[in-house]
Amino acid sequence: MDKTKNGDSFERMLFATFAYETTPIGDKCSYSAETFIASLAGELNQAEEDRLSAHLLLCPTCAKEYTSIERSLQEDEERLFARARVPSLAEHTRQKQEVQRRWHVLTSLLQFRLYSC
Ligand SMILES: [Zn+2]
Repeated sequence: MDKTKNGDSFERMLFATFAYETTPIGDKCSYSAETFIASLAGELNQAEEDRLSAHLLLCPTCAKEYTSIERSLQEDEERLFARARVPSLAEHTRQKQEVQRRWHVLTSLLQFRLYSC
């Protein structure tokens, strides 16, 4: 029974420490979209990153916002990549067609030569 009590108080202490470590003074979070973007861009130092990670585990509001920013950044990135990919795909297809056309001309010439000898 004592053991359970100790376990409980240890957990409480742990959560209190976590809460102290990750919750800013007052009830409002000090984290803003700028911090999340900085984190996603890899601009936070390790200590800031750790603090933010711990906070995101405990704060559903920030976790939700972080996830939505992460998703929209990924979508932006995919859009940019898609835009960069389209011309290169078109270019690739054009080059492939050109190679096929040359190959066709070459084989036609060879066949013509073979048959004309
Ligand atoms: Zn928060």
